[in-house]
Amino acid sequence: MRFDILTIFPELLRSPLEEGILRRALQRQQISVNLVNIRDFACDKHQMTDDRPFGGGEGMVMKPEPLSEALKSCQEPEKKTRTILLSPQGRRFDQRTAEEFAAEEEHLIFVCGRYEGVDQRFIDSYVDEELSIGDFILTGGELGAMIVVDTVTRLLPDVLGCADSSGKDTFSRNLLKHPQYTRPREFEGVEVPPELLSGNHEEIERYRFLESVRNTLKKRPQLLEEEKFSPAETKLLKKAGLFLQIRSIQHREIQ
Ligand code: SAM
Repeated sequence: MRFDILTIFPELLRSPLEEGILRRALQRQQISVNLVNIRDFACDKHQMTDDRPFGGGEGMVMKPEPLSEALKSCQEPEKKTRTILLSPQGRRFDQRTAEEFAAEEEHLIFVCGRYEGVDQRFIDSYVDEELSIGDFILTGGELGAMIVVDTVTRLLPDVLGCADSSGKDTFSRNLLKHPQYTRPREFEGVEVPPELLSGNHEEIERYRFLESVRNTLKKRPQLLEEEKFSPAETKLLKKAGLFLQIRSIQHREIQ
């Protein structure tokens, strides 16, 4: 997967790419990340990338020409490309969107706004989609772009080793992950749950499934509105006394 990130602050984005799984994915050429300095495409001698808003008002607006030139510099003819503007006004980014990008896209170009935002004519002519990382205002799109790169990269084939596979993560279903424990067996008088020490694979899986459901009921019950359980899971939920709680949540959704 190729990522291009158009920014006036490329240095801001270097260090997340130099550590951990992103670094490994870059080294193995599973991803490439091209940081494009919008300033290099400014057309005047002061390399201006922003200007005052027409109609007056506060702040500055990013000029369209450096953005369009920067974008053209990373487009590859005949290759499928999706251009995304990071924007608090966009579709909310979530795990489903990350899965969609990982499965369907080959080349994502991110445009990072700054100041009051980006000239609307650039958005109308060049942007396929505006994407928000949440209902709050950042100083710029860079951290948002890196969140998307990070989330999508770990879903690409063979990026994660089996030790940290994404298939059972929180949000892979509409469930939170079960609690996890490691050595020592006892910490400050608290023991690891005995089911995890049983060595019985089926018992461990049952325990983890039920803990995952309990965790979701406690912290994010609204997620369960959308979840579907298999007949075997439903049987387990009934036996554990969780089924009625889930049914009442799902019933509420229907009303
Ligand atoms: N004046 C804009 C508004 O009210 O919609 C906010 C501009 S914000 C200070 C500057 C830039 O940060 C935006 O153009 C966008 O690229 C980025 N940004 C801010 N909040 C964001 C969010 N929640 N998700 C994605 N990008 C965001």
